[in-house]
Amino acid sequence: MDRAQALEGFDREVALVNTRARIAAAQLPRDTSVDGFCIDCEQPIEPARLVALRGTTSRCADCAVQFEQRARMAR
Ligand SMILES: [Zn+2]
Repeated sequence: MDRAQALEGFDREVALVNTRARIAAAQLPRDTSVDGFCIDCEQPIEPARLVALRGTTSRCADCAVQFEQRARMAR
């Protein structure tokens, strides 16, 4: 594979990712403070998780579990 072919493949990959991101964003409600990043660890939240929870989560799966455990202990 030469350089031009490699770049073409990369462009196609980027376009595919951008399209998926647009589709995922369109499925989320507009009036949410969630920008797709965890408020605790600032890592991107899994798109499947955002879609499943309709964009109402502001934590990734790991931090949500830890947050729930802390909340339970605080009670
Ligand atoms: Zn997190």
